[in-house]
Amino acid sequence: MEFVNIAQWEENDSVLSKETIIELTNKNIELQQKIDKAIKHIETHQLCYQSQYEEMSGFDNHLLDILRGNDEPKYLGYSDKECINCGRERVEKYSDGTEICEKCNFDQNKKEYV
Ligand SMILES: [Zn+2]
Repeated sequence: MEFVNIAQWEENDSVLSKETIIELTNKNIELQQKIDKAIKHIETHQLCYQSQYEEMSGFDNHLLDILRGNDEPKYLGYSDKECINCGRERVEKYSDGTEICEKCNFDQNKKEYV
């Protein structure tokens, strides 16, 4: 996906129909909305990911999913941390930064049962 610079096309004397300009403009708006969503997502989970550099590949994949319009959190595997509630090493990590113990269902970040 790329932004289409309509002004540049006009400079090059390209003739665009009104329908084409509307279509290109709508594509730009749609792309900008996806980018805004991705940026908001990064800001929301930035602190969480800063402490988890080893999960950056999962993070990158999730960012791509957002840009493709698929924002469902994905299971990334077990965390190497113990559950802050029950102490067992069964904390499951998700691509949206959520960490939930599969044994006691305790959300490690919100610090509450889910
Ligand atoms: Zn637990």
